[in-house]
Amino acid sequence: MKDFLGRLGIREVNSGACAGAWLDTKGDDLVSFCPADEKPIATVRQANEEDYEAVVRAAHDAFLKWRMLPAPKRGEIVRQMGEALREKKEDLGRLVSYEMGKILSEGLGEVQEAIDIADFSVGLSRQLYGLSMHSERPLHRMYEQWHPLGVVGIVSAFNFPVAVWAWNAMIAAVCGDTMIWKPSSQTPLAAIATQNIMNEVLDRNGFPGVMALVIGRGSTVGERMIQDRRIPLISATGSCRMGRRIGEVVAKRLGRTILELGGNNAILVDETADLDMALRAILFGAVGTAGQRCTSTRRIFVHRKVHAELVKKLVAAYRSVPIGDPLDPKTLMGPLVNEAAVETMEQAIAEAVREGGKVLAGGNRKKGPGFFVEPTIVEARPDMKIVREETFAPILYVFPYDDLDQAIAWHNGVDQGLSSAIFTRDLLHAETFLSHRGSDCGIANVNIGTSGAEIGGAFGGEKDTGGGREAGSDSWKAYMRRQTCTINWGKELPLAQGVKFDLE
Ligand code: NAD
Repeated sequence: MKDFLGRLGIREVNSGACAGAWLDTKGDDLVSFCPADEKPIATVRQANEEDYEAVVRAAHDAFLKWRMLPAPKRGEIVRQMGEALREKKEDLGRLVSYEMGKILSEGLGEVQEAIDIADFSVGLSRQLYGLSMHSERPLHRMYEQWHPLGVVGIVSAFNFPVAVWAWNAMIAAVCGDTMIWKPSSQTPLAAIATQNIMNEVLDRNGFPGVMALVIGRGSTVGERMIQDRRIPLISATGSCRMGRRIGEVVAKRLGRTILELGGNNAILVDETADLDMALRAILFGAVGTAGQRCTSTRRIFVHRKVHAELVKKLVAAYRSVPIGDPLDPKTLMGPLVNEAAVETMEQAIAEAVREGGKVLAGGNRKKGPGFFVEPTIVEARPDMKIVREETFAPILYVFPYDDLDQAIAWHNGVDQGLSSAIFTRDLLHAETFLSHRGSDCGIANVNIGTSGAEIGGAFGGEKDTGGGREAGSDSWKAYMRRQTCTINWGKELPLAQGVKFDLE
């Protein structure tokens, strides 16, 4: 077993549930494989429904205690979590890379994102502000305050096995919530390692159970969690299909959701753009993380005047991308997460060709072991069905355009609405793209690609991307309940709107 696994507390067989302490779980075994060599890394004994029940009860008990700790004191404990993540950054980043397949620099970047959101949350713990309003009644004071919500359910996707949990968990923790994390079954070990790091801090401070973990099937413990009325908020990150199911189930019980779902992100490159900058942004956006980011660049619309030149440069760049072991510092693209992902990519390319698309670069899987593919460029038309779908793989569809409004209409003409960008040196084009008749996405950038958001902004997207917002800005409000309070400090009881209701 690799040294860093031992230092992160990963054993050959691991418990799949933690509720303050690791439980003796009773579900079936799940083996986590390295996508680069297809070898097993370690086994997780998954949680069954009985284990889930123990976790919810413990999370609720922890909530009753945690909510009584003043928010800045909770922030101090979150500060220690950030420090603990700093100490383990190298090991945890390596595990993310080894288990999920993203390159080491991105694995480390992912842990950095968790550290950044911890730092952000420390400051936030002193800024959970409510407004005060002027009452229409004399000698009355009116204000709003924010209270902790309860036990929050966090469902995370395989592609950001640590950062997405941290966006939710660090904020929820300073808000006074406790939480249960159901990670993807593709990346259970990153979750166990993160949980171990958090346990150490929570135990030291006398608050075990604030952050709990259940590893189990979406169809069993996942379903139990989303139907559970003891969990007022489910924050779920994953495919639109999963989001539709979770949205429906939680809405039916009038619970709250934060849904962070699929994207179909595009970059516009106009005739004034700095093509070298655009090239670098497209390459990172489309090839980085092997096209497995929710914000990956999947489509580019390029003005006809510069289309041929940019596509030529892109094709040359694609041919020279070093593909291989994600832990090798020279590698820029690791494997896809599993065999199914490779098959989905192959099917999408075949479908694109069937619809009249032309493969300009890549298009093939590489010899195993490992789920390696070539990053692929397809010349396409905006009316093709396949370009409207999110294929979670490094396929880039390119389209020429003549008119900016037409390009924006094509850009917006898909169901998803996560991230978007324009490369331009024309102020009017930039402002048009950012205006209400421009991009319809939750994220809109100028001279920056679609992927690699900072935690300080609210992260999320519109339309089928689900409408949720996580991380910075005022996203914290989703993790608390708002209470409007009015205090009468006079000796009369005037009613609002001048209503009279007095006995003669
Ligand atoms: P997925 O939808 O297959 O799984 C996501 C998570 O949902 C997993 O933990 C899974 O077990 C769980 N799940 C599935 N059905 C469930 C159910 N009925 N009840 C409870 N949990 C259930 O997604 P994936 O393949 O892991 O990740 C890739 C997808 O995630 C892509 O579509 C990507 O765009 C999206 N994503 C979105 C964001 C964002 O912030 N918008 C970020 C990362 C990934």
